[in-house]
Amino acid sequence: MIAVLKPNTSPEQREHLINWLKTMVTDVHISEGKAYTVLGLVGDTSRIDPELLESLDIVESVQRVSEPYKKCSRQFHPEDTVVEVGKAKIGAEFCLIAGPCSVETEAQIIDVAERVKAAGADVLRGGAFKPRTSPYDFQGLKGEGLRLLSEAKKVTGLPLVSEIMSIDTLDLFEDVDIIQVGARNMQNFDLLKELGHLDRPILLKRGLAGTLKELLMSAEYIMAGGNEKIILCERGIRTYETMTRNTLDLSAVPVLQERTHLPVIVDPSHATGLSRLVPPMALAAAAAGADGIMVEVHNDPAHALCDGAQSLTPEQFADLSSRVRKILEAMKA
Ligand code: PEP
Ligand code: MN
Repeated sequence: MIAVLKPNTSPEQREHLINWLKTMVTDVHISEGKAYTVLGLVGDTSRIDPELLESLDIVESVQRVSEPYKKCSRQFHPEDTVVEVGKAKIGAEFCLIAGPCSVETEAQIIDVAERVKAAGADVLRGGAFKPRTSPYDFQGLKGEGLRLLSEAKKVTGLPLVSEIMSIDTLDLFEDVDIIQVGARNMQNFDLLKELGHLDRPILLKRGLAGTLKELLMSAEYIMAGGNEKIILCERGIRTYETMTRNTLDLSAVPVLQERTHLPVIVDPSHATGLSRLVPPMALAAAAAGADGIMVEVHNDPAHALCDGAQSLTPEQFADLSSRVRKILEAMKA
């Protein structure tokens, strides 16, 4: 961390500040310029609040040299993390996650699972605990939904991803291969801390108004507890635009990949809210270098209990899957 002092700082004020800083860091390097003095703080700066330091009368500005997210930072872990789930190696090979927004019936989930598998999906998604804006909307089949997902896994062999909303329901997720933290819970720190104690992959979605730094800090919460199997997901953020459900921030993919070794996938379904917009944004995500996509697929979108408007049919998903492969091939060339 670097602190620049204001030109009119007296030697006593400077001395006082340096002595205080030395109680928290290993050393303070002083470089004197004509007008400004620059203090270089050496060692662990985690006990220093940069905003507090910058608020002092004699401090002009404060800059961090390293980021506050350590475990998920590429700085200290240059090689990509690969999260293995079933046959999928997320972070090493492109991963296709597909399935309905919500599990509705046994026939529905098994039909969708079989058809997305045939189209090349690596992981089956399906919500059982649904975070709905209205309490009167379908809230998910909960434990029964997870049981039906298990049936679909038995039939197809596809690993599962499903969203958790409360740690109290963790026992029900025994057969779920990847536990999803939804956008609304990105900063549910108590939940993140609990998931940090598991030895199970976590799919962490970006919050509706979450910055990339906040997303990385949330991943850090999970990693700080010991669980390093995290997949990040860009799913669109809330902006002033109303023609799409959210605004897909595709630059999040290369930006996150620069900053972190964790895999980064894209959810074009919640990002756009409209099924016809899903294929172009899914292809763009693959072209941007995402490690995978998560797409909502329903066998009868018109009658879906949740998010029918953004759900692809299995046929549309099969078409998308083969087009994604072509993008990936083209990118190898
Ligand atoms: C979901 O993937 O089922 C979901 C609710 O998405 P998000 O948390 O991104 O809104
Ligand atoms: Mn949905």
